[in-house]
Amino acid sequence: MTSQRTRQRLIQRLIEQGIKDTQVLTLMESTPRHIFLDEALSHRAYEDTSLPIGFGQTLSQPYIVARMTELLRTHAPDAQLVLEIGTGSGYQTAILAGLFEQIYSVERIKPLQDKARKRLTELGYRNVMLKHADGHFGWSQDKQFDAILSAAAPRQVPQELLDQLAPNGVLVIPIGEASQTLVMVKNTDEGFVTTEIEPVKFVPLLGGTTR
Ligand code: SAH
Repeated sequence: MTSQRTRQRLIQRLIEQGIKDTQVLTLMESTPRHIFLDEALSHRAYEDTSLPIGFGQTLSQPYIVARMTELLRTHAPDAQLVLEIGTGSGYQTAILAGLFEQIYSVERIKPLQDKARKRLTELGYRNVMLKHADGHFGWSQDKQFDAILSAAAPRQVPQELLDQLAPNGVLVIPIGEASQTLVMVKNTDEGFVTTEIEPVKFVPLLGGTTR
């Protein structure tokens, strides 16, 4: 079920859906998505679908992980510092950690963060910093990121995330409630430029933290 052939089939599907970045595709082929799921669901790890990780949250669909990562690599090619909002299982974090220098990731549900930390440590990732906090406020006011990726949808782009976007930095974030759109915001010399990417379905960006 977690065989090489099953993984290759997933990669083929991502290509058919328009993912072109070979580094993203190669990395997703070699990253064990099943490790980021509870055992009862691990046999479904290489289906192109989102899957439950507890606490009403989901591990993002592989296509959307690939798409968001590809957007960051295309529009912020020299990015080193990357902020992720919504660590969840840690799978997207692992993909980012394989492509960018230093990943900072915020999660509001402590038990999810604990599990993600354990998995990322076991898999040997050393360039990931995790924080239990409300991602509406980004990482901290005195830090700026070349790229920010949110795996949860607010109603509008939080100002704090824009404040933490470095010059030429790129934010990729789903926006909306019942109907959501993936948007990309670039911090250009002329100000923030927003581009709508495609309709998506994410869990909501909630306020506060849970122990
Ligand atoms: N990329 C993750 C996605 C998990 S779902 C994965 O593939 O596993 C989105 C995550 O965002 C959930 O874990 C949820 O708890 C978290 N989240 C929601 N609102 C948040 C907030 N305000 N701050 C930090 N994390 C938040």
